Amino acid sequence: MYLSIKGLAKSFGENEVLKDVNVDIQKGEVVSIIGPSGSGKTTLLRCFNGLEDPDKGLFTFHDGQILNFEEKMNKRDIVQFSRRSGMVFQAYHLFPHKTALENVMEGPIIVQKRNKAEVRQEAETLLEKVGLKDKMNFYPHQLSGGQQQRVGIARALALKPELMLFDEPTSALDPELIGEVLTVIKDLVKENWTMIIVTHEIQFAGEVSDKVLFMDGGYIIEQGTPDEVLKSPKEERTKRFLQRIL
Ligand code: ADP
Repeated sequence: MYLSIKGLAKSFGENEVLKDVNVDIQKGEVVSIIGPSGSGKTTLLRCFNGLEDPDKGLFTFHDGQILNFEEKMNKRDIVQFSRRSGMVFQAYHLFPHKTALENVMEGPIIVQKRNKAEVRQEAETLLEKVGLKDKMNFYPHQLSGGQQQRVGIARALALKPELMLFDEPTSALDPELIGEVLTVIKDLVKENWTMIIVTHEIQFAGEVSDKVLFMDGGYIIEQGTPDEVLKSPKEERTKRFLQRIL
């Protein structure tokens, strides 16, 4: 087990976005989250790395860290928690005035205070891994959306996270650019990263995931293997959602 989450809840004002989410993530597992727009998928993903502060919920990590969001937490725990994961955003979120290489180097140098020469080496290797070594001195505006997102993936990897989080990583891309980003994610699957992916790419989710979560109305309505959830869903809401989009 990598992480167990019990009773996670999050509201924005009166809007109860996550009501009672319970999920276990195994080490090396690829988990996809699917579901209608507004069902709480992105909010759940952001709770995994502290970008949202849950109202309630107990997170138990493999190494003994326990976070109870109903209680006040100490700063060290919060920092340790947020450093466990790297996030890949829908809209890339690159620094516009930094090159691809500088974008990848920023986190390890500024946040982790690591040695610059060593970080540079690693950043070049990561850009090579995502197929962008030749573009490392380009600025975001000189790159296509697919290339920018691949820089976004390299940037998240540079922090050496235990957990990679992807928030609809292809939804801002033109159709012809989606494949190159999915290929990079598939390479990470082969390397046994623990990953959580919010996606509308149902076929992709079916191919790469060990587990699929279907969310609706702030709950995980159904979870299981891709075959169980995508091919023979038990719940009416899952069936209706899949019929609508497939
Ligand atoms: P999904 O990813 O499934 O589309 P989201 O988690 O993005 O769903 O959003 C679920 C609900 O939470 C929506 O009603 C959205 O308007 C609301 N929401 C998300 N983030 C915020 C926020 N920062 N402030 C207020 N409401 C938010």
